[in-house]
Amino acid sequence: MNRLTKTILLATAAAFLLGTGLSAQKTVGIAMPTQSSARWIADGANMKKILEERGYKVDLQYAEDDIPAQVAQVENMITKGDSVLVIAAIDGAALFNVLEKAHAAGVWVISYDRLIVNSPWVSYYATFDNFKVGVLQGGYIVKALGLDKGKKGPFNVELFAGSPDDTNAGYFFNGAMSQLGSYIKSGVLKVRSGQTDFAKVATLRWDGAVAQKRMDDILTSKYTDAKVDAVLSPYDGLSIGILSALKSVGYGTAKKPLPIVTGQDAEIPSVKSILAGEQTSTVFKDTRTLAKRAADMVDSVLSGMPAEINDTKTYNNGHHIVPSYLCEPISVDKSNVKSALVDIGYYTAAQIGLK
Ligand code: BGC
Repeated sequence: MNRLTKTILLATAAAFLLGTGLSAQKTVGIAMPTQSSARWIADGANMKKILEERGYKVDLQYAEDDIPAQVAQVENMITKGDSVLVIAAIDGAALFNVLEKAHAAGVWVISYDRLIVNSPWVSYYATFDNFKVGVLQGGYIVKALGLDKGKKGPFNVELFAGSPDDTNAGYFFNGAMSQLGSYIKSGVLKVRSGQTDFAKVATLRWDGAVAQKRMDDILTSKYTDAKVDAVLSPYDGLSIGILSALKSVGYGTAKKPLPIVTGQDAEIPSVKSILAGEQTSTVFKDTRTLAKRAADMVDSVLSGMPAEINDTKTYNNGHHIVPSYLCEPISVDKSNVKSALVDIGYYTAAQIGLK
């Protein structure tokens, strides 16, 4: 092989490696909130797989809903020289200082699913249409009670929201209230607990036990002589707690059927609960799609190209409007479990106990 051929071959190999990102073997730090919920495990695993296939090293960390632990993990990623951070924050406001350090070290930051607030150093946001998630949840209750067909009730509804330090919780709640609010105002829907403000119905850290306790208290104080017709729940982990509270006071029989209970994430216990006729609906967000979007953003920032986005208006993080890509959420109940979750290969029929 002469010198020229050798040079050309080496240059071609280098260009190929550069193209695949392998030459520099850049590391992407992925900071996820918790492994207590299956969706985040799937998010982390999907992103790791996609990024490794694209030639990156991946540093995937879970903080088990401990805010200082997540800050320390992110700090460590910066110290180790990770090139990009993909972060699903536990508390969207707690990362301000550590992201200053990321910026100083030239590390890119992508907000994953949950918006990081106040920081100037968030380049992109990969998420779902969070307002629409709430619209699907509230809209499900409207349809299931026949309110859209003119049914006047009055029906008893109770409201739950997610963690107040997660901006998503507000978008979900506002989306749901865009559907339920007018019926509550007109008295077609009654909230016997009187708790309708976000601050009152929020559930710190999305904790199912906290939701269960609140539902227990509401049932004993406000429903001894009335029944609940619907519960707005923003997340499957809360729905399970709410259903336990309801069952503990006798709901779930022919005489006292369970109310409509919504949810989110299509986690396996909730999908099984839907098939068993307990939880009524959930909102499915395909973590594979979101992971791919985030990986595309990683590629873009590292190659100096603009990332593909489809929203430049919605997500003001208190410092700037973060350019976002919003994926589509899907409402799932008994009628479409198979087409929405099994036919697309997200779950096998066996995993969710579908015959
Ligand atoms: C996510 C939801 C999830 C919730 C609790 C939110 O930020 O968008 O999908 O249900 O956190 O983990």
